[in-house]
Amino acid sequence: MHAGGPREGLTNASAPSTFVDAMARGSCEFCARPGATVHATFSRNIGMLIMRQTETVSGRHCARCLVQNFGRMQGLNMLLGWWGTISFVMTLFFSGSNVFHLVSGGAALWSDAASKASREAALTRHRESVDAGAELARFRHTIRMRLRRGETAGVIARDMVDAANVPLEKADAFVAEIARAEA
Ligand SMILES: [Zn+2]
Repeated sequence: MHAGGPREGLTNASAPSTFVDAMARGSCEFCARPGATVHATFSRNIGMLIMRQTETVSGRHCARCLVQNFGRMQGLNMLLGWWGTISFVMTLFFSGSNVFHLVSGGAALWSDAASKASREAALTRHRESVDAGAELARFRHTIRMRLRRGETAGVIARDMVDAANVPLEKADAFVAEIARAEA
């Protein structure tokens, strides 16, 4: 069933056993875009009554390439897979496996995106609830030094969002206040 897909040599050594294990940050192996990826394998059969031809693509997929590779391989299965007894069985098997990889991979990517969104929402709520004035006051000296070095208030304020865990508008106002005092 593995008839030398283009990615096979690259991925066999590290091919994980489950989709959850495979969930990884990094780049998509097909479009090279960085982000959440999931390991998936899609196969297709072309039945030619006496001969058969198969192809497998396997690797870390982003959401877009997951759908694209599924569509390409499964489209060929549906059109050309069934011609021959062995081909019929193989195509049935490949189709089930392709759908399984699409659905499990898609679910893993979706749940990763959902949990990332909820983490970001929690962080935003945290930033809105802290006493921004007290958090920022700890950085008063640092901010003054950076202003004296000639850094712009906007750049310093953006850094303060992470350093002090406060909303940007609070950081902007605080840095601007120090900048006015320094002027
Ligand atoms: Zn991709």
